[in-house]
Amino acid sequence: MTDQTSPETLKSAARALLKEAALVAGEWVAAGPDAVEVEDPAEETILGRIPKLSGDQVSQAIAAAARAFPDWSGRKGKARGEFLHRWAELVARNEQGLAALISLENGKPYPEALGEVRYANSFISWFAGMAERLDGRTIDSANAQDLILAFREPVGPVAAITPWNFPAAMITRKAAAAFCAGCTVVLKPASATPFTGIALAALALEAGLPEGAFSVVTGAQDVVGGALTGSAAIRKLSFTGSTEVGRKLAAQCAPSLKRLSMELGGAAPLIVFDDADLDVAVEGTVAGKFRAGGQTCVCPNRVYVQKGLRDAFLEKLTAKVAALKVGKPFEDGVAIGPLIDAKGVAKVEDHVARTVAAGGTVLTGGARHERGGRFFQPTVIAGGDDALFCDEETFGPLVPVFAFDSEDEVLERANASDYGLAAFLFTDDLNRALRVGRRLEAGIVGVNSGLISNAANPFGGVKQSGFGREGSTYGIEDYLQVKSLTLALR
Ligand code: NAP
Repeated sequence: MTDQTSPETLKSAARALLKEAALVAGEWVAAGPDAVEVEDPAEETILGRIPKLSGDQVSQAIAAAARAFPDWSGRKGKARGEFLHRWAELVARNEQGLAALISLENGKPYPEALGEVRYANSFISWFAGMAERLDGRTIDSANAQDLILAFREPVGPVAAITPWNFPAAMITRKAAAAFCAGCTVVLKPASATPFTGIALAALALEAGLPEGAFSVVTGAQDVVGGALTGSAAIRKLSFTGSTEVGRKLAAQCAPSLKRLSMELGGAAPLIVFDDADLDVAVEGTVAGKFRAGGQTCVCPNRVYVQKGLRDAFLEKLTAKVAALKVGKPFEDGVAIGPLIDAKGVAKVEDHVARTVAAGGTVLTGGARHERGGRFFQPTVIAGGDDALFCDEETFGPLVPVFAFDSEDEVLERANASDYGLAAFLFTDDLNRALRVGRRLEAGIVGVNSGLISNAANPFGGVKQSGFGREGSTYGIEDYLQVKSLTLALR
């Protein structure tokens, strides 16, 4: 625990924010008899229920977003920024309850969940500051009579579909940018972790967002996803999730030619050169890999260590990983919570078995945790075949470590993946950092750090990790389109 508040107090703050309802066109729609159950992954009990909305109800939310759009987009940037500041203030005031809610529905340790709420809120503050700065341009024309004005206008009502691994941050990263630009939003949060998003929407209403400008729709993927992607009124889809689902949704959006942002899966390489600071490299690997129990899209999926440093690196890494405490989110000193579901546990188990079969040696962990349930031991494996980790995200607490000889060799191996989200390198040679960093096929590169997520950092992938950028001054562009106006001067 990072503060002295007791787990009981934190849980009751979470329960005060937990709403078993969707938000459709400004109305709360309570969960009915056919509701979807949401589990607490640490306790394996039912935390609550969310409504299974019909396609018609999702269409009502879309219609409300379309009705709210002219008013919201017509307001001054300063007014939209003021709303975002008020929303950020309410999120900050409720940060303990929101963090505890994340811990309850996602299972991440409470201090880490608190970090996520602050990270999520940094996007709201960032875009609050930006709302007054969405300037256009004047453009010179070869025709002496003409003056060209370029306006940046919001794309229109936006659909946002988000994953379970960051129940707050993946939502604010999209919604704050959209509201800043003047867009309205219909959000479909992950069914495993919907309550944080619903609570954030309630706080947005409290902060003064007009009715219909933000709906939260829950229920069956195909019903909700079909209505959102099939609607001509929705002008953009921002999706964060797996590459497989991203491809499917992009195809569904093709007939209505929506703008798309696709934040998809990754298989990040992490490279440690002989000239790296050993402690910094080990710390960076542990920090990057074990966040959210290894369940982030930017977690290093495969670690390459140059031969001269390999043994020392493995020794230090193994000691650190073996010391990580596994447990429930409100227990003291816990670094790793449960995985999100049984499928997630089976996947890590499968990756361990396949790596050992390919010649890898388990240095620590390697099996389900003695606590049972969805807990898995933090694991280090040396050797085996890195091809598996180029192609498949483990999404769990397993670090496979491979040795390499030369810069060219490791670049070839690092880039031998269809994914291209994050990549990390550790070196004390600035020339090498720039040379290798530029040649890595990834949208986000960390040098001497395993933590790269920051509201000021343009976040997004290349290749099968998708396209579009979130956060930073680039993140707003996904929600804006350019309109030109040519004045023939007399
Ligand atoms: P997922 O299975 O692709 O689901 C993501 C979201 O899409 C959920 O809300 C899910 O709904 C929804 N969905 C699934 N199938 C759908 C369909 N046919 N129509 C409409 N919506 C549909 O991914 P996940 O397991 O939640 O998240 C893990 C993945 O997200 C990993 O691959 C990870 O790398 C990626 N990720 C990427 C980033 C990034 O910024 N690039 C960040 C975080 C995570 P339900 O919850 O109802 O199934």
